[in-house]
Amino acid sequence: MATDRGGTILVVEDDPAVRNLVACALDVHGYRHREAASATTALADLTCATDISLVILDLGLPDRDGVDVIRALRGWSRTPVIVLSARQEDVDKVGALDAGADDYLTKPFSVEELLARVRVALRRLAFEEPARAGEPDVYRNGALAIDFSAGVVARDGAEVHLTPIEYKLLALLARNTGKVLTHNYILKEVWGQALASDLPSLRVFMATLRKKIEPDPANPVYLQTHVGIGYRMLRVE
Ligand code: CA
Repeated sequence: MATDRGGTILVVEDDPAVRNLVACALDVHGYRHREAASATTALADLTCATDISLVILDLGLPDRDGVDVIRALRGWSRTPVIVLSARQEDVDKVGALDAGADDYLTKPFSVEELLARVRVALRRLAFEEPARAGEPDVYRNGALAIDFSAGVVARDGAEVHLTPIEYKLLALLARNTGKVLTHNYILKEVWGQALASDLPSLRVFMATLRKKIEPDPANPVYLQTHVGIGYRMLRVE
């Protein structure tokens, strides 16, 4: 399925200047959108609407925290969420990502950056669509292929030998291509618990994984680092 420009983007932001900036950028690039200035309005719209393909969400809303909106939405929907945050603290971004956000931008942000994130988020949606319908067990991204049923990874058609933890790590990131996964989330999924003391091992496994799958491990194209936050698998054309 191609990138869905037929869907509507919901922009949730109480600051009219930022809301207009985002709305204007979306307009110019042909994205349909609606606006909400509070968490309550946003949740009311999200509960009733079936046409929303993406949510751009400010964390600092007048009535409720944006993180509450993500938690509520994730109760019934996997619609991608890009968080806008005026707060510099990584802890807010991590909280939003752990609640189920896909990505984040810190204000002030550039319109180009926002549009790039919108494309990534909508691609993730398009990318996941067939997986839910037909459940194919092979993942393809650039030169990388993962056969989930056989547990085999290949790069340029040649098998890559991974340790069980490297494989679990890669499979988790691949299944969430386009989404920023926090350290805590990864540790919980791969190690079974999120202990800060396991963070150095995660870094080591990421380094060895990159050596095996990246064309140039020093300039990774698949596995992106979000300093202080986590990692993301990027879609490679
Ligand atoms: Ca705000």
